[in-house]
Amino acid sequence: MSDTVTCARRTLAAMERPPSVDKLARSLGDTGLPHPLLVDVARAAIADGDHTQAEARAHAMARSLLQPVVNATGTLLHTNLGRAPFSHEAAGHFLNLEFDLATGQRGSRQRAVGQLYARLCETEAALIVNNCAAAVTLAMAGLAAGRSVAVSRGELVEIGGGFRVPEVIEQSGAKLHGVGTTNRTRAADYERAVADPDADIAVALLVHQSNYKIVGFTEAPTVAQLADVDVPLVCDIGSGLLDAACPWLDDGPPSWLSDEPAAKQTLAAGADLVCFSGDKLLGGPQAGIIAGRADLVAACASHPLARAFRPGGLVLGALQELALDYLNRDGQAIPFWKMASRHPADLRSRAEALGVGEVVDLMSVPGGGTLPTVEIPSAGVRLDGDHTDALRAHEPPIIARVQDQKTLLDLRTVDPADDAMIAAALTRLASS
Ligand SMILES: *Cc1c(COP(=O)(O)O)cnc(C)c1O
Repeated sequence: MSDTVTCARRTLAAMERPPSVDKLARSLGDTGLPHPLLVDVARAAIADGDHTQAEARAHAMARSLLQPVVNATGTLLHTNLGRAPFSHEAAGHFLNLEFDLATGQRGSRQRAVGQLYARLCETEAALIVNNCAAAVTLAMAGLAAGRSVAVSRGELVEIGGGFRVPEVIEQSGAKLHGVGTTNRTRAADYERAVADPDADIAVALLVHQSNYKIVGFTEAPTVAQLADVDVPLVCDIGSGLLDAACPWLDDGPPSWLSDEPAAKQTLAAGADLVCFSGDKLLGGPQAGIIAGRADLVAACASHPLARAFRPGGLVLGALQELALDYLNRDGQAIPFWKMASRHPADLRSRAEALGVGEVVDLMSVPGGGTLPTVEIPSAGVRLDGDHTDALRAHEPPIIARVQDQKTLLDLRTVDPADDAMIAAALTRLASS
């Protein structure tokens, strides 16, 4: 419709006597929104002098609610799409969240799931919090409040929106003690700081370069080189890769994982604690995990912040299911690893079977602020023009990307069960 026609229609609508709020709200019932929200929408449209806009407003409100979407972007851990997709049996029953079924006494919400993650990391203990930012904050608060944390000047970084290492340390009540230089830091730099009584170092913290790289004339100590430093060594590995050998994958670790640090190997090399995210390479819900020496995990668990950072039964339940899948070495039960291990040839066959658009080789990316330079060979389809608005408006929304005025749909991140629905949507697009 042209702007003039729209304008004329609006003026006419405004001149008509508006329907009652209630009648208008009832006419919007097919959006599925509860009546009180439709009343708000109807009232706002009438107040703005154009009740004909009420339906569009109701649809916009329905669109703003959380809902499943199809991720055809090829970014495996898309932060805007909730990072890792994960499965969880939600149900309307009670849970022995803090109840010990053996004794009938009050139990710990952390014990069972914590033990599973400790087992997976082959370490003594683990504690679950709301995200990795909380894990690092709690580790610093629990181990170093009122004292100092030694960190390389090359790791005083920002990782993802708002996670800035100096601020996290400050918020935990500890003091930052920079060691080394921006590009080169050695084990001797940590040792000198720890040996200085005035520095009062309680912890050495290593922060993985998740989403950036320092290249050129650089040097950083390995975990093993810091293992003998005289204070607990805490490693923020971020990504949540459990085991570099990926025993849950039939073909072993994919080549693109390259040298991403893994929890088990970092602990084996001498870290006393590792902190990592639940919703990156671990493939679970948003959570943070602190794993390592039992006495240090206990010190974190008994800090008052632990209560503020503790997850609920939904998250713990989903993490428990995930831990059992890992222990069963069943990578195909974990949606993230399932999509990460799809073969490009299979993705190409699926793209051909869609029967619409041009079949193309693509590059997926891990995303989620991990592995910044990594690309994973993939395949999908390419359509002329930018169709992302129409695809987003589809039911369910299909999220694609645009490059050089062409729409790209990468099938690595798409569940094969959605292929037929996508083919139908693209066919309708192509014919309109
Ligand atoms: C992603 C990341 C974080 C933040 O993790 P959240 O779970 O998003 O809070 C912290 N440290 C590192 C090294 C990371 O990669």
